[in-house]
Amino acid sequence: MEKIKRLTVAETFKQHDALVGKKVDVKGWVRTRRGNKNVQFVALNDGSTINNLQIVFDLSRFSEDQLRAVTTGSSIHVQGTLVESQGKGQNVEVQADELEIYGTADPAEYPLQKKGHSLEFLREIAHLRPRTNTFGAVLRIRHALAYAVHKFFNDKGFYYFHTPLITASDCEGAGAMFQVTTLDLNDLPKGEDGKINYNEDFFGRQANLTVSGQLEGELGATALGCIYTFGPTFRAENSNTPRHLSEFWMIEPEMAFYEIEDNMDLAEEFIKYCINYALEHCADDIAFLEEHFDKELTSRLRFVVENEFVRLPYTEGIRILEESGKKFEFPVYWGVDLASEHERFLVEEHFKKPVILTDYPKEIKAFYMKLNEDGKTVRAMDVLFPKIGEIIGGSQREESFEKLNKRVEELGLTGMDWYMDTRRFGSVPHSGFGLGFERLVLFVTGMQNIRDVIPFPRYPKNCEF
Ligand code: ATP
Ligand code: MN
Repeated sequence: MEKIKRLTVAETFKQHDALVGKKVDVKGWVRTRRGNKNVQFVALNDGSTINNLQIVFDLSRFSEDQLRAVTTGSSIHVQGTLVESQGKGQNVEVQADELEIYGTADPAEYPLQKKGHSLEFLREIAHLRPRTNTFGAVLRIRHALAYAVHKFFNDKGFYYFHTPLITASDCEGAGAMFQVTTLDLNDLPKGEDGKINYNEDFFGRQANLTVSGQLEGELGATALGCIYTFGPTFRAENSNTPRHLSEFWMIEPEMAFYEIEDNMDLAEEFIKYCINYALEHCADDIAFLEEHFDKELTSRLRFVVENEFVRLPYTEGIRILEESGKKFEFPVYWGVDLASEHERFLVEEHFKKPVILTDYPKEIKAFYMKLNEDGKTVRAMDVLFPKIGEIIGGSQREESFEKLNKRVEELGLTGMDWYMDTRRFGSVPHSGFGLGFERLVLFVTGMQNIRDVIPFPRYPKNCEF
């Protein structure tokens, strides 16, 4: 073949005005092939866009034999002339002159033959599902959202701060942890008390995978001003729900000199920015997901972007739930940790808007949250979303050394000296929150299950690929 600069399918569509009548060079995977004795049509996809480029093979130039291996899933290289398309639905197509086959995909074995495989089936072949339209769309949106996160914070003057994934602290209280060890589990070193001797372990002490970068993030904020983390977190809870993963990505901004109101403003602006970014840059992918999975997707996204979130104290929320007359599976009373059904009632039925619930009882929140004057509630804020429930959890942090230390002692937390130094030296009012990245992707894609918005999901009893 002649040497011509290869164009992606996305580039070909974008520059079609300039390219019509010219020779083009495209590469990709065959989605489908159909046609008749005179002509064969191939839908080519290279991942650059949800849209397929149609390649037309005139059978006066290509033999059936040459095209035999051009089957769903095979990879090909084509050169030909870009022409205005006759068929409806696409503006241009390639009239093929030359064909090179890179890799075949035996139709008897390639699992992605027909359209409309169930999401459950695709989860079993998660190593191949990025090749489907659905997962292509989800993964491109995921990418765009990740980029939007960095852009939002960078443009606001926040610094991307890297917190460790392996940690010795287990005080976050955010959930059960995975242990990291190089000890031989079949032959554990034990002390006289019969307990494992972690002095002999890799780090000379017990270590875990982090459940949150927040505590280290606070050290960053009390030096750099405003920081954010964006990295993997791990939780070993046995939560087999459509909203929990064992390994997920979390974004945790932490800001010196921010009070709870500033924190809420930031959270609302941040989420809206990310959703807007996706609406602007992922229109084709969102349209595809809307058509196939969720007819109200775009209107729901626009609704969230265009409306102010409701801000409501927990105590008020409990009163609304109690007075609703609704039968909930889990009981409602002051002091209870709200279940997803309660959160969704407030958001979907009562206010019909995202809700930021604040001032929770201190007993159900983490030790570092700032105590209110009532001595019973803390300056927590959870952002609750339609279909998702909690998407963000955050708070103003307790900046008083005395108050925080009292809480640490009440709860019997140890090994916190390094963290307490933030309060010991130059302590300032500060706030932050955590957004579960997959919950955001779930919301923006309209998918139902969090396992379908990350390429290789990790959940109880599943760690393949
Ligand atoms: P939930 O009550 O929904 O289990 P949480 O209160 O334990 O969440 P936080 O510790 O506040 O969660 O974590 C901050 C954010 O991380 C949550 O608001 C949510 O978006 C996300 N998140 C928490 N746990 C998970 C998980 N297992 N999988 C995916 N995202 C999660
Ligand atoms: Mn939370």
